[in-house]
Amino acid sequence: MLTEKEELSLQTRLLHHKYKSDSQTGAVSVPIQHASTFHQETLDSFGKYDYARSGNPTREALEEIIAGLENGTKGFAFASGMAAISTTFMLLSAGDHLVITEDVYGGSYRMTTEVLTRMGIEHTFVDMTNVESVERAVRPNTRMIYMETPSNPTMKITPVKEITGLARENDCISVVDNTFLTPVLQRPLDLGADIVVHSATKFIGGHSDVVAGLAVVKDPVIAEKIGFLQNSFGAILGPQDAWLIMRGIKTMHTRMEASEKSALKIARRLSEHPAVNRVYYPGLETHSGYDQNKLQSEGSGAVLSFELSDRSHVKKVVESVQLPVFAVSLGAVESILSYPAQMSHAAMPQAEREKRGITDGLLRLSVGLEKAEDIITDLERAF
Ligand SMILES: *Cc1c(COP(=O)(O)O)cnc(C)c1O
Repeated sequence: MLTEKEELSLQTRLLHHKYKSDSQTGAVSVPIQHASTFHQETLDSFGKYDYARSGNPTREALEEIIAGLENGTKGFAFASGMAAISTTFMLLSAGDHLVITEDVYGGSYRMTTEVLTRMGIEHTFVDMTNVESVERAVRPNTRMIYMETPSNPTMKITPVKEITGLARENDCISVVDNTFLTPVLQRPLDLGADIVVHSATKFIGGHSDVVAGLAVVKDPVIAEKIGFLQNSFGAILGPQDAWLIMRGIKTMHTRMEASEKSALKIARRLSEHPAVNRVYYPGLETHSGYDQNKLQSEGSGAVLSFELSDRSHVKKVVESVQLPVFAVSLGAVESILSYPAQMSHAAMPQAEREKRGITDGLLRLSVGLEKAEDIITDLERAF
């Protein structure tokens, strides 16, 4: 039957699901339900919705849609990517230990080093590309292994199946930040992960106009726990923003496909340019994680980084490019150029940054929907 999930490609499933039209009116858009509370008919039994922190029909639509796309059973929408990640970290208790990738997103780094430590949760940063180093870091009190692949901004690739297997053997919850590839290109739950988290602010929303986070799980016991934490901590996504994310999802496949194609062209051209020391993009055959990424995903995404000689050249380039906006963030219809050392990884001490390859000459480019040749011309002029 055509409505069976397996029969339809993910591209089609972005548009055709339970919420493609409203069951009451036929409206071809999910209604934005602003109510904070819901009338109860009787004293003895309350309806499905009572208070909107616990459940809101618009948010619920988004949560079911993302759960379907990630091949999970339950989705959760949060006020930001960091709210989704922080709520996930709350599965841990004092005395627990977290093994986390060393080139994790700056905000997750800050949360781990400055907040979780205060709550008595220990951590070890590891090179997640290396299974043995993860194995060595696991202790008797390790309860979570946290991955991000491709990583930010050097695009390292984590062997997700191996690490989730290791997590299972050691009774640890495995988490993957799937922000860079989205379910269009990578589905970590299918690779054995327990929880997928997203900054939906990026490619899922896709238009630089909403801050949101998502989490998806498969196991009902973990779903129950995340649901409890979502309601307890309360960092939920509002209905208007949930609607914007659902709107973004409709074009996600098309946007990812177009941006990825351009990203590869740009990465190839940059690697030939004399002003560029090196290019990090998993779609380049020369990238250290090229084979691994091919094995576990359906693409390389639309984010790449490249290294210029030093900060003064970076300054010149940033101040003379015309097309990409120079900003924090990624994953939008317009190309975004950012400077990890002072933006996404500003929370990281310089020595830590340098160790991770985030030098003062490194720029990150999130490729949008412009014509690739126009971006190349613009960058080459700026060099
Ligand atoms: C942006 C980002 C986050 C944080 O998401 P917010 O929506 O900004 O809170 C987490 N992980 C990655 C990989 C990101 O790029």
